[in-house]
Amino acid sequence: MEEKIAKKEQIESKPSQQTDSPNIRKTPYKRSSSRPSKPNYVKKNFFFKKRVCFFCKNKESVIDYKDVSLMKRFISESGKISPRRFTGTCAKHQRKLATEIKKARQMALIHFTDKHK
Ligand SMILES: [Zn+2]
Repeated sequence: MEEKIAKKEQIESKPSQQTDSPNIRKTPYKRSSSRPSKPNYVKKNFFFKKRVCFFCKNKESVIDYKDVSLMKRFISESGKISPRRFTGTCAKHQRKLATEIKKARQMALIHFTDKHK
């Protein structure tokens, strides 16, 4: 029995020593390999046109929650307020626009989301 146990220990100890050292090395490699896979920022080719603010350009157009056709220009298909980097509106007008779109949503002129179908 003692011999068997001794053999088992030898058999167990040998592979454990061998496996331990690669495991320690492998785990950081696996983590490092998984990390770059997570932030796959696939840059979707959104339309990067007109950098000039629409409301600064057309000063006659007033941002109003009742003007749904105007609002819809600055909303995505799903109903999100499209960010400034896509539409090109300046910070001042984007702020105003966002509040007006939110008003319009409350008045049920614009849908909140696209997912209630
Ligand atoms: Zn502007």
